[in-house]
Amino acid sequence: MTPNLCIVCNGKGTVSKAFYNNVELLNMQTSFVLCRACSGSGILWAKTKAEEMEDNDYMTGYIDRRKKFERERRTDLEKKEQLNSILNKIKETAEENQKLNINKTKG
Ligand SMILES: [Zn+2]
Repeated sequence: MTPNLCIVCNGKGTVSKAFYNNVELLNMQTSFVLCRACSGSGILWAKTKAEEMEDNDYMTGYIDRRKKFERERRTDLEKKEQLNSILNKIKETAEENQKLNINKTKG
């Protein structure tokens, strides 16, 4: 993290009360309140390029992991469908064989 001058209060740590209030108050005699952006420190901490790159890498990694997960999930679903279709065929064949056997016994 690198320190930067607060762009909201310009490093003063306070802003005019009207800043956070209704626009109508702008005409009033203003008093000052603590700057919410820097909590009165006058400093805003910003991420360094390296930290930003680290964040980007993390996000890219996250997206890759997510894609992999989705791909695996899809494959699992496909496998499940294939298995179901095979099981159905086995069941159908078994039923047909049973019918044939019944017919044989009848005949
Ligand atoms: Zn500030």
